Amino acid sequence: MPADLIAALDIGGTKIAGALVDGSGELPVRARRATPAREDGATVLGAVTAVLRELAGSPLWTRVAAVGIGSAGPVDASAGTVSPVNIPGWRGFSLVAAVRETTGELPVTLVGDGVAMTAAEHWRGAARGRTGALCMVVSTGVGGGLVLGGELYPGPTGNAGHIGHISVELEGDPCPCGGRGCVERIASGPNIARRALENGWRPGPDGDVSAAAVAAAARAGDPVARASYERAARALAAGIAATAALAEIEVAVIGGGVAGAGEVLFAPLRRMLGDYATLSFVRGLTVVPARTGTDAGLLGAAAAAARGTRLSGFGTGS
Ligand SMILES: [Zn+2]
Repeated sequence: MPADLIAALDIGGTKIAGALVDGSGELPVRARRATPAREDGATVLGAVTAVLRELAGSPLWTRVAAVGIGSAGPVDASAGTVSPVNIPGWRGFSLVAAVRETTGELPVTLVGDGVAMTAAEHWRGAARGRTGALCMVVSTGVGGGLVLGGELYPGPTGNAGHIGHISVELEGDPCPCGGRGCVERIASGPNIARRALENGWRPGPDGDVSAAAVAAAARAGDPVARASYERAARALAAGIAATAALAEIEVAVIGGGVAGAGEVLFAPLRRMLGDYATLSFVRGLTVVPARTGTDAGLLGAAAAAARGTRLSGFGTGS
Protein backbone atom coordinates (compact mmCIF):
# COMPACT_ATOMS: atom_id res chain seq x y z
CA MET A 1 0.00 0.00 0.00
CA PRO A 2 1.58 3.37 -0.97
CA ALA A 3 1.96 5.92 1.82
CA ASP A 4 0.86 8.84 -0.34
CA LEU A 5 -1.77 10.71 1.70
CA ILE A 6 -1.62 13.36 4.43
CA ALA A 7 -4.17 13.58 7.23
CA ALA A 8 -4.93 17.28 7.64
CA LEU A 9 -6.66 19.20 10.45
CA ASP A 10 -7.90 22.79 10.27
CA ILE A 11 -8.73 24.02 13.77
CA GLY A 12 -10.60 27.30 14.20
CA GLY A 13 -12.90 28.98 16.68
CA THR A 14 -16.08 27.75 14.99
CA LYS A 15 -15.18 24.43 13.34
CA ILE A 16 -12.66 21.63 13.38
CA ALA A 17 -12.27 20.24 9.86
CA GLY A 18 -10.28 17.17 8.88
CA ALA A 19 -9.48 15.43 5.61
CA LEU A 20 -7.22 12.97 3.91
CA VAL A 21 -5.41 14.91 1.18
CA ASP A 22 -3.66 13.47 -1.87
CA GLY A 23 -0.82 14.87 -3.96
CA SER A 24 -3.15 16.34 -6.56
CA GLY A 25 -5.02 18.40 -3.97
CA GLU A 26 -8.08 16.14 -3.80
CA LEU A 27 -9.74 15.44 -0.43
CA PRO A 28 -11.22 11.94 -0.74
CA VAL A 29 -12.25 11.69 2.94
CA ARG A 30 -13.60 14.52 5.11
CA ALA A 31 -14.79 14.89 8.69
CA ARG A 32 -15.99 17.89 10.65
CA ARG A 33 -17.20 18.94 14.11
CA ALA A 34 -18.28 22.25 15.60
CA THR A 35 -15.62 23.67 17.93
CA PRO A 36 -16.94 23.69 21.52
CA ALA A 37 -14.93 26.88 21.95
CA ARG A 38 -16.53 27.93 25.26
CA GLU A 39 -15.96 24.52 26.89
CA ASP A 40 -12.88 23.32 28.75
CA GLY A 41 -9.75 22.17 26.96
CA ALA A 42 -10.51 18.46 27.27
CA THR A 43 -13.89 18.93 25.57
CA VAL A 44 -12.29 20.80 22.66
CA LEU A 45 -9.72 18.02 22.34
CA GLY A 46 -12.60 15.51 22.30
CA ALA A 47 -13.91 17.13 19.13
CA VAL A 48 -10.45 16.96 17.52
CA THR A 49 -10.15 13.29 18.46
CA ALA A 50 -13.61 12.56 17.04
CA VAL A 51 -12.56 14.09 13.70
CA LEU A 52 -9.32 12.06 13.67
CA ARG A 53 -11.14 8.81 14.56
CA GLU A 54 -13.61 9.38 11.76
CA LEU A 55 -10.73 9.84 9.30
CA ALA A 56 -8.93 6.80 10.72
CA GLY A 57 -12.08 4.73 10.10
CA SER A 58 -11.57 5.12 6.36
CA PRO A 59 -9.91 2.23 4.47
CA LEU A 60 -7.60 4.90 2.97
CA TRP A 61 -6.08 5.61 6.42
CA THR A 62 -3.44 2.90 5.84
CA ARG A 63 -1.98 5.16 3.12
CA VAL A 64 -1.45 8.13 5.47
CA ALA A 65 2.24 9.15 5.67
CA ALA A 66 2.04 12.20 7.96
CA VAL A 67 -0.33 14.47 9.88
CA GLY A 68 -0.56 18.23 9.30
CA ILE A 69 -2.32 20.64 11.66
CA GLY A 70 -3.18 24.25 10.89
CA SER A 71 -4.53 25.99 13.99
CA ALA A 72 -5.83 29.38 14.97
CA GLY A 73 -2.99 31.14 16.74
CA PRO A 74 -0.84 31.90 18.44
CA VAL A 75 0.85 28.53 17.98
CA ASP A 76 4.31 27.41 19.02
CA ALA A 77 5.37 24.85 16.43
CA SER A 78 8.71 24.26 18.16
CA ALA A 79 6.94 23.26 21.41
CA GLY A 80 3.91 21.67 19.72
CA THR A 81 1.56 23.91 21.68
CA VAL A 82 -1.34 26.22 20.79
CA SER A 83 -3.07 29.12 22.58
CA PRO A 84 -5.85 30.18 20.18
CA VAL A 85 -7.30 33.56 21.13
CA ASN A 86 -10.85 32.33 20.47
CA ILE A 87 -10.47 28.97 22.29
CA PRO A 88 -9.83 30.06 25.91
CA GLY A 89 -9.72 26.46 27.19
CA TRP A 90 -6.44 25.97 25.33
CA ARG A 91 -3.51 27.98 26.70
CA GLY A 92 -0.11 26.50 25.98
CA PHE A 93 -2.06 23.36 25.13
CA SER A 94 0.09 20.42 23.97
CA LEU A 95 -1.87 19.75 20.79
CA VAL A 96 0.81 17.78 18.93
CA ALA A 97 1.26 15.34 21.82
CA ALA A 98 -2.52 14.98 22.17
CA VAL A 99 -2.95 14.25 18.44
CA ARG A 100 -0.17 11.64 18.63
CA GLU A 101 -2.30 9.76 21.19
CA THR A 102 -4.63 8.99 18.28
CA THR A 103 -2.27 8.90 15.29
CA GLY A 104 0.59 6.92 16.82
CA GLU A 105 3.96 6.94 15.09
CA LEU A 106 3.07 9.23 12.18
CA PRO A 107 5.09 12.48 11.99
CA VAL A 108 2.99 15.51 13.02
CA THR A 109 3.54 19.08 11.74
CA LEU A 110 1.88 22.09 13.36
CA VAL A 111 1.59 25.55 11.76
CA GLY A 112 -0.52 28.65 12.38
CA ASP A 113 -3.57 29.18 10.18
CA GLY A 114 -1.97 32.08 8.30
CA VAL A 115 1.03 29.92 7.40
CA ALA A 116 -1.33 27.08 6.39
CA MET A 117 -3.24 29.38 4.05
CA THR A 118 0.08 30.50 2.57
CA ALA A 119 1.17 26.89 1.98
CA ALA A 120 -2.16 26.25 0.23
CA GLU A 121 -1.86 29.29 -2.02
CA HIS A 122 1.75 28.40 -2.89
CA TRP A 123 0.80 24.82 -3.72
CA ARG A 124 -2.56 25.21 -5.47
CA GLY A 125 -3.47 28.90 -5.58
CA ALA A 126 -2.46 32.41 -6.55
CA ALA A 127 1.14 32.16 -5.23
CA ARG A 128 1.88 29.02 -7.23
CA GLY A 129 5.38 29.06 -8.72
CA ARG A 130 6.22 32.39 -7.03
CA THR A 131 9.62 32.99 -5.41
CA GLY A 132 8.45 35.58 -2.88
CA ALA A 133 4.88 36.01 -1.66
CA LEU A 134 2.95 37.40 1.28
CA CYS A 135 -0.38 35.62 1.73
CA MET A 136 -2.97 37.18 4.04
CA VAL A 137 -6.25 36.16 5.61
CA VAL A 138 -8.36 39.28 6.20
CA SER A 139 -11.34 38.25 8.24
CA THR A 140 -12.31 38.58 11.94
CA GLY A 141 -8.57 39.04 12.38
CA VAL A 142 -5.72 39.61 9.96
CA GLY A 143 -3.16 36.81 9.62
CA GLY A 144 -0.57 35.91 7.06
CA GLY A 145 2.44 33.93 5.99
CA LEU A 146 5.49 34.17 3.75
CA VAL A 147 7.02 32.37 0.80
CA LEU A 148 10.72 33.27 0.58
CA GLY A 149 13.22 31.89 -1.92
CA GLY A 150 10.48 29.74 -3.41
CA GLU A 151 9.80 27.97 -0.09
CA LEU A 152 7.23 28.33 2.66
CA TYR A 153 8.87 30.21 5.55
CA PRO A 154 6.98 29.36 8.78
CA GLY A 155 9.69 30.62 11.13
CA PRO A 156 10.81 28.82 14.29
CA THR A 157 7.40 28.88 16.00
CA GLY A 158 5.19 28.75 12.88
CA ASN A 159 4.06 32.38 13.00
CA ALA A 160 6.30 34.23 10.51
CA GLY A 161 4.43 36.68 8.30
CA HIS A 162 1.89 37.68 10.95
CA ILE A 163 1.26 41.00 9.24
CA GLY A 164 -1.91 41.76 11.19
CA HIS A 165 0.15 43.07 14.10
CA ILE A 166 2.57 45.29 12.22
CA SER A 167 1.92 48.91 13.20
CA VAL A 168 0.97 51.17 10.29
CA GLU A 169 -0.33 54.05 12.44
CA LEU A 170 2.26 54.91 15.09
CA GLU A 171 -0.07 56.84 17.43
CA GLY A 172 -3.08 54.75 16.46
CA ASP A 173 -5.71 53.01 18.54
CA PRO A 174 -4.55 50.42 21.09
CA CYS A 175 -4.77 46.89 19.68
CA PRO A 176 -5.80 43.87 21.78
CA CYS A 177 -2.29 42.48 21.12
CA GLY A 178 -0.81 45.30 23.24
CA GLY A 179 0.49 47.34 20.30
CA ARG A 180 -0.93 50.40 18.59
CA GLY A 181 -2.26 51.12 15.13
CA CYS A 182 -1.89 47.53 13.94
CA VAL A 183 -3.05 46.51 10.46
CA GLU A 184 -5.69 44.30 12.09
CA ARG A 185 -7.02 47.17 14.22
CA ILE A 186 -7.78 49.04 11.00
CA ALA A 187 -8.45 46.41 8.32
CA SER A 188 -10.25 43.47 9.96
CA GLY A 189 -13.93 42.92 9.20
CA PRO A 190 -15.19 43.99 12.65
CA ASN A 191 -13.07 47.16 12.48
CA ILE A 192 -14.35 48.03 8.99
CA ALA A 193 -17.92 47.72 10.32
CA ARG A 194 -17.16 49.60 13.56
CA ARG A 195 -15.58 52.54 11.72
CA ALA A 196 -18.49 52.77 9.26
CA LEU A 197 -21.00 52.85 12.15
CA GLU A 198 -18.97 55.44 14.08
CA ASN A 199 -18.94 57.69 11.02
CA GLY A 200 -22.69 57.55 10.50
CA TRP A 201 -23.33 54.57 8.24
CA ARG A 202 -26.60 52.82 9.15
CA PRO A 203 -27.56 49.24 8.23
CA GLY A 204 -30.58 48.40 6.11
CA PRO A 205 -33.91 47.02 7.40
CA ASP A 206 -32.33 43.61 8.10
CA GLY A 207 -30.06 45.23 10.71
CA ASP A 208 -26.95 43.54 9.24
CA VAL A 209 -23.90 45.41 10.55
CA SER A 210 -21.26 43.03 9.16
CA ALA A 211 -18.32 44.09 6.97
CA ALA A 212 -20.14 42.34 4.09
CA ALA A 213 -23.13 44.66 4.62
CA VAL A 214 -20.77 47.66 4.60
CA ALA A 215 -19.30 46.32 1.33
CA ALA A 216 -22.76 46.09 -0.20
CA ALA A 217 -23.45 49.70 0.81
CA ALA A 218 -20.08 50.79 -0.62
CA ARG A 219 -20.93 49.06 -3.89
CA ALA A 220 -24.21 50.98 -3.96
CA GLY A 221 -22.27 54.24 -3.60
CA ASP A 222 -22.53 55.00 0.14
CA PRO A 223 -19.56 57.36 0.78
CA VAL A 224 -19.10 56.43 4.47
CA ALA A 225 -19.07 52.72 3.69
CA ARG A 226 -16.65 53.32 0.86
CA ALA A 227 -14.36 55.41 3.07
CA SER A 228 -14.20 52.64 5.67
CA TYR A 229 -12.98 50.17 3.05
CA GLU A 230 -10.52 52.74 1.72
CA ARG A 231 -9.07 53.15 5.20
CA ALA A 232 -8.68 49.36 5.47
CA ALA A 233 -7.10 49.28 2.01
CA ARG A 234 -4.60 51.96 3.03
CA ALA A 235 -3.52 49.98 6.11
CA LEU A 236 -3.11 46.84 4.01
CA ALA A 237 -1.19 48.76 1.33
CA ALA A 238 1.28 50.14 3.87
CA GLY A 239 1.82 46.72 5.46
CA ILE A 240 2.24 44.98 2.12
CA ALA A 241 4.67 47.64 0.85
CA ALA A 242 6.76 47.34 4.03
CA THR A 243 6.91 43.57 3.60
CA ALA A 244 7.95 43.97 -0.03
CA ALA A 245 10.76 46.36 0.89
CA LEU A 246 12.02 43.95 3.57
CA ALA A 247 11.76 40.66 1.72
CA GLU A 248 11.33 41.48 -2.00
CA ILE A 249 8.03 39.66 -2.28
CA GLU A 250 6.56 39.84 -5.79
CA VAL A 251 2.92 39.16 -5.00
CA ALA A 252 0.49 39.69 -2.12
CA VAL A 253 -2.40 37.22 -2.05
CA ILE A 254 -5.47 38.21 -0.03
CA GLY A 255 -8.15 35.80 1.15
CA GLY A 256 -10.66 35.65 4.00
CA GLY A 257 -14.16 37.06 4.31
CA VAL A 258 -13.15 40.70 3.82
CA ALA A 259 -11.52 39.83 0.47
CA GLY A 260 -15.05 38.80 -0.57
CA ALA A 261 -15.78 42.53 -0.88
CA GLY A 262 -13.97 42.28 -4.22
CA GLU A 263 -13.20 45.54 -6.00
CA VAL A 264 -14.59 47.58 -3.07
CA LEU A 265 -11.35 46.53 -1.35
CA PHE A 266 -9.00 45.63 -4.20
CA ALA A 267 -9.45 48.77 -6.34
CA PRO A 268 -8.34 51.23 -3.62
CA LEU A 269 -5.71 48.75 -2.42
CA ARG A 270 -4.05 48.59 -5.84
CA ARG A 271 -4.20 52.37 -6.15
CA MET A 272 -2.81 53.03 -2.66
CA LEU A 273 -0.02 50.50 -3.03
CA GLY A 274 1.52 53.07 -5.38
CA ASP A 275 1.71 55.53 -2.44
CA TYR A 276 3.91 53.18 -0.38
CA ALA A 277 5.62 50.71 -2.72
CA THR A 278 7.82 53.31 -4.36
CA LEU A 279 11.33 51.85 -4.63
CA SER A 280 12.34 50.41 -7.99
CA PHE A 281 12.57 46.82 -6.73
CA VAL A 282 9.02 46.78 -5.31
CA ARG A 283 7.20 48.61 -8.08
CA GLY A 284 6.29 45.38 -9.87
CA LEU A 285 4.43 44.11 -6.79
CA THR A 286 0.92 42.84 -7.53
CA VAL A 287 -2.07 42.19 -5.25
CA VAL A 288 -4.45 39.37 -6.14
CA PRO A 289 -7.34 37.48 -4.49
CA ALA A 290 -6.69 34.05 -2.98
CA ARG A 291 -7.89 31.04 -4.95
CA THR A 292 -7.95 28.06 -2.59
CA GLY A 293 -11.24 29.00 -0.87
CA THR A 294 -12.71 27.22 2.12
CA ASP A 295 -10.34 24.24 1.85
CA ALA A 296 -7.24 26.47 2.18
CA GLY A 297 -6.63 25.43 5.80
CA LEU A 298 -6.76 21.71 5.01
CA LEU A 299 -4.71 21.94 1.80
CA GLY A 300 -2.14 24.11 3.56
CA ALA A 301 -1.84 21.87 6.61
CA ALA A 302 -1.21 18.98 4.21
CA ALA A 303 1.36 20.93 2.18
CA ALA A 304 3.18 22.03 5.34
CA ALA A 305 3.29 18.43 6.62
CA ALA A 306 4.61 17.18 3.27
CA ARG A 307 7.69 19.43 3.54
CA GLY A 308 10.57 17.20 4.50
CA THR A 309 8.83 14.05 3.27
CA ARG A 310 9.43 12.48 -0.14
CA LEU A 311 5.76 12.55 -1.08
CA SER A 312 5.27 13.62 -4.68
CA GLY A 313 2.86 16.32 -5.71
CA PHE A 314 2.61 18.30 -2.47
CA GLY A 315 3.72 21.87 -2.17
CA THR A 316 6.14 21.97 -5.09
CA GLY A 317 4.82 25.33 -6.16
CA SER A 318 5.15 24.32 -9.79
ZN1 LIG B 1 -1.97 44.26 17.24
